Amino acid sequence: MVDYSRFISKVASNIKASEIRELLAIIRGRKDVISFAGGIPDPALFPRKELAKIAGVVIEKYGDNALQYSETKGIIEVRETLSDFLARKREIHADAEDIIITSGSQSALDIVSRTLIDPGDIVITESPSYLAALGAFKMNGAKLIGVKIDENGMRTELLEEKLKQLGDDVKKVKFIYVIPVGQNPAGTTMNKERKKHLLEIASKYDLLILEDDPYSYIIYEEGAETASLKSLDKEGRVIYMSTVSKILAPGLRIGWIVAEKELIRRFEIVKQYVDLHSPTLNQFIVAEAIKTGLIDDVVQKAMPYYKAKRNTMLEAIKENFPDYVWYSKPIGGLFVFAYVYKNGFDAGGLLEKAVKQYKVAYVPGGSFHPEGDGVNSMRLNFSYPTHEQIREGIARLAKLIRES
Ligand code: PMP
Repeated sequence: MVDYSRFISKVASNIKASEIRELLAIIRGRKDVISFAGGIPDPALFPRKELAKIAGVVIEKYGDNALQYSETKGIIEVRETLSDFLARKREIHADAEDIIITSGSQSALDIVSRTLIDPGDIVITESPSYLAALGAFKMNGAKLIGVKIDENGMRTELLEEKLKQLGDDVKKVKFIYVIPVGQNPAGTTMNKERKKHLLEIASKYDLLILEDDPYSYIIYEEGAETASLKSLDKEGRVIYMSTVSKILAPGLRIGWIVAEKELIRRFEIVKQYVDLHSPTLNQFIVAEAIKTGLIDDVVQKAMPYYKAKRNTMLEAIKENFPDYVWYSKPIGGLFVFAYVYKNGFDAGGLLEKAVKQYKVAYVPGGSFHPEGDGVNSMRLNFSYPTHEQIREGIARLAKLIRES
């Protein structure tokens, strides 16, 4: 047999498998284990019948165009529909030429990284932050600097300190990556002052901001602060990205980036060599789902549905967890994040025991922390498990925390 190791690139050799995906593979199909490890929508919210109908309509209406290769930036009618959608939902006023459609927002992370990062450049992220984004930045050679968060999002006073400490190296910082609403994994949301401060800092140090916004379309508290950074950006510093994964169906793999035309053109050229274009049929389906109000319907259903699950999880945590556990209280998103302030608590080290003995799974928080801390943390998903599983699973987890 061939020894393949000499053929594998340095980049591929250095990346670690995603802890979450490996873990999900192990516990998949094990009915006795209650899992808070996923990050996926509840399929009960997938509008199956309506999507089947729309797919039929789209193929009939657009004929061969729906099944043919299409423009790298995305189909113009679809980008126009997205332009209206973003103005209505997020107060982002971008014309179709400021938008590029991507294959999910994961592909947007990859394209932005390939376009902006040279090996040795610095990307600043929240700590903790979205694992697969950290992976995409690292794969492109970025060095990561994490800025701690609290319940109001990235602590921008710490961001400024870190930038000052960098001295001349501040020129190597390409962008600051933030998930302002319903953050993954922390479940936190940035307040107005922090957003303003972040934009001021970006301006002062001449930096770009990458705003990842998959969760703000579904919000659990009326009046919550959810304005997009892009809608507040007067200098063209914010690169905005989002996806239909949480408001329609992740399997469609449709996301988008909004930025100044000059950047969009760069992303377009990179995308030509990444995947030519995103799935034509799915783009038409998404546009039709927007125009017919299907996405609005899913959002309307998802809000009370996930809010109830979030409430069940927060109530169960309040009842069961010892008081040395700090946990977030999300107004959006799919996650509660917890730090266990007990000497030597190692969520990663305990996971096997949790699964085998306590029959409960979570994602250890360490790998969400770009600087290697956070071993005492865990991410708990509430969108996928049932109410009963949430109550029972949290009780099991509380037992593990107390007994470890
Ligand atoms: N960014 C964040 C913050 C996410 O939570 C996710 C999905 N879990 C993604 C990006 C990727 O989403 P998509 O399905 O659009 O690739």
